[in-house]
Amino acid sequence: MFGIVGVYSKHEATEKALYNLYGVQHRGQESAGISAAGDHSLRTWRDQGLVSNVFDEKFKSFIHPEDYVTIGSASGEKSNSNDTPPIEFENERYKISIAKDGFVLSNEEEKGQTVEKTFWKNIEKYIDIEIAFSKSMKELENAYYSLVMAIFDKRNHRSELIAARDRKGIRPLYLARGKGVLFVASESAPIDVLENMKETVDGRIIEKKDVTPGSMIRVYDDNFFEKKIQTAQRAHCIFEWVYYGRPDSVIEKRNVHSARKRLGHSLVRTHQLKKRRNHVIIPVPDSGRSVSIGVAEALGSTADEGVIKNAYLGRTYLIDDPKFRKIASDLKHNIIKEIVENKKVTITDDSIVRGTVSESVAQALLVAGAIEVDFLVSYAPIFYSCFSDPPDKPLAAASYKGRNIFEIGDSIASQLPSISSIKFNSIENVIKAIDIPESNLCTMCVTGKNPYDHFNTIA
Ligand code: 5GP
Ligand code: MG
Repeated sequence: MFGIVGVYSKHEATEKALYNLYGVQHRGQESAGISAAGDHSLRTWRDQGLVSNVFDEKFKSFIHPEDYVTIGSASGEKSNSNDTPPIEFENERYKISIAKDGFVLSNEEEKGQTVEKTFWKNIEKYIDIEIAFSKSMKELENAYYSLVMAIFDKRNHRSELIAARDRKGIRPLYLARGKGVLFVASESAPIDVLENMKETVDGRIIEKKDVTPGSMIRVYDDNFFEKKIQTAQRAHCIFEWVYYGRPDSVIEKRNVHSARKRLGHSLVRTHQLKKRRNHVIIPVPDSGRSVSIGVAEALGSTADEGVIKNAYLGRTYLIDDPKFRKIASDLKHNIIKEIVENKKVTITDDSIVRGTVSESVAQALLVAGAIEVDFLVSYAPIFYSCFSDPPDKPLAAASYKGRNIFEIGDSIASQLPSISSIKFNSIENVIKAIDIPESNLCTMCVTGKNPYDHFNTIA
């Protein structure tokens, strides 16, 4: 996954893009980069690591006050110095830089086709930017992407900012604009933060919205253009509300935290849970927090903190070796003994993928004196690897396809020694809680319905 940002502003565009980039750090922690452009140049600063490491004191010397177009990327992909995003391309006429959240599907990427190269190829060929975008977006039928691009036009001595979102809108992309300023980012939360800072927005924001799937946004000479290239065929990734998104973001008009609370209500209803004596509800931080509040609300109870996360270990999810994943997950969570000792503990989390995190947390709870550990999982059982993930990830639910959520919960729980029970939401109830029509969502990891079906991308 990737976090992307773009800023068009005559005042401190680069600083604002950096502020925004901090706000999408949760979408990628491997590398970070910024490209800044104005009337005379386009330059890029990028490196491995977190935003706060990459943009250190030395970055100050990179900032040109006259630049007014800046894009940025926080990438979750490992890269070497040449392919760390944003990616630059250059010919006699243009120098451009692209940051994206997405991929070319199937094996096209192995053949050398990438989202970035496709756009650049058409910009070189057609020179006219809108024609190039129109050609590229139609050509990239087998890709999903939200992207931002900075274009420095060497002939006309000016730069422009472009944003685009594939016709399925798999990944989110949000924009806010005012007079002579445009912010675009993977999610709304960082843009809200900028707006709250008042001095950063140069006046009033007149429009805030999700970028429409299949359309491009273009800003130059202080003017804003929006162009529909393709008809939207929405298939928003449902996991954005379940896990990826920040709780304070609003994606397709649905606040993420509120959607997660509704997932908690739904768990209580589906499994007819009742308030119990000698019982605590505790989230796995941070992803289980909103759902724990929803569960407690529906039970007429309260949630507490009992599992504390060491935020400095980074994403243990990405470690492939099961042994090290378990150790990293163990190191990441500590238990507040006083809260759980001699109690029945209900733990809430967003999802069980391989089951490593849940077993590790449950084991620690038992060691700390919990009587039993029951798991409430806000998502449904995951049967299929996402087309954005490595296909060979061992999924805890994979061998229970076709069984109902109750049986699957029991089967997985019986294989995880520290866990007494696991209760999932059904995908139907997840869809209801998120409150977007099923036909507008991608639920492939649960239902196997691939929005790119004709490309046969399921491994
Ligand atoms: P597992 O069951 O594989 O041990 O881990 C599940 C945990 O990983 C869940 O708590 C969830 O918050 C997190 N998770 C689920 N999907 C993803 C993902 O795509 N990326 C990352 N970094 N974490 C994920
Ligand atoms: Mg988690």
